[in-house]
Amino acid sequence: MLTFLHIFIIFCMFVIGTLFGSFFSLATYRLPRHQDIIATRSYCTSCKHRLGFFDLIPVLSYLFRGGKCKYCGEKISIRYFLLEVCNGTIFVLFYLIFGYTIKLLIVCLLYAFIFVLIGSYIMKSKMTEEEKKEISLKHKKGVFISELVIAMIIFTIFMASAFILIRNYNKNVNMYIAKSNAISLAVKNIEKALATDYDSLYSFNDNQVVDEINYSITTNVSKYSDVDFTKQDIVKLIDVQVDYMFNGESYEFNLKTLKGKVL
Ligand SMILES: [Zn+2]
Repeated sequence: MLTFLHIFIIFCMFVIGTLFGSFFSLATYRLPRHQDIIATRSYCTSCKHRLGFFDLIPVLSYLFRGGKCKYCGEKISIRYFLLEVCNGTIFVLFYLIFGYTIKLLIVCLLYAFIFVLIGSYIMKSKMTEEEKKEISLKHKKGVFISELVIAMIIFTIFMASAFILIRNYNKNVNMYIAKSNAISLAVKNIEKALATDYDSLYSFNDNQVVDEINYSITTNVSKYSDVDFTKQDIVKLIDVQVDYMFNGESYEFNLKTLKGKVL
């Protein structure tokens, strides 16, 4: 069951990585040109057609369109696709190295910041002299850095919310796993008690560690004759209680049954 969660986080990290890869392409192209990176929708660089929601899905939209622009049929550089896949893989590697910790968030953000910065300078050096002249006439120096900072703040907020969402999901799944373990332990002990001969059936305790959680199982067996009007020792009450700690809180699960004497 924990494996499923592991795969789910790997999938999420890959998606976050591809989203970053997609954002990276956009930011490194627009930042040196002093173009807005938030409000302006992405557009095809050859026909300038604005891209729709489905054109913005990393990796998949490139594959479905066969690497061509939907509007003008112009080939889209495979560089975008590779950047998305590579970043997805890198983010998954970060998760495998650092685990689901605060270190992972810091490493991802640091990586994102450094790469957007380096990428922007590389893209800036690739701009034509005409483009550079046009931009230097329109804009003051220093705007580039402030736009980069805004971009990183937005990316930080996005990453932090994704992390919190996954962490909460992680916590809930682990809680259900802990409870399902408790239920199955209670059922096992009920079965054990029912399989025991009536006369030799007494209370017993057990301790089990499952998925790194310590469960203490108390099986209380009491004669039902105290409440039974016949006052005969022919029915026993089996009361199983499973106690366990999860995330610093104590939980219990209770299961009861009756066992009758074969007369
Ligand atoms: Zn196009």
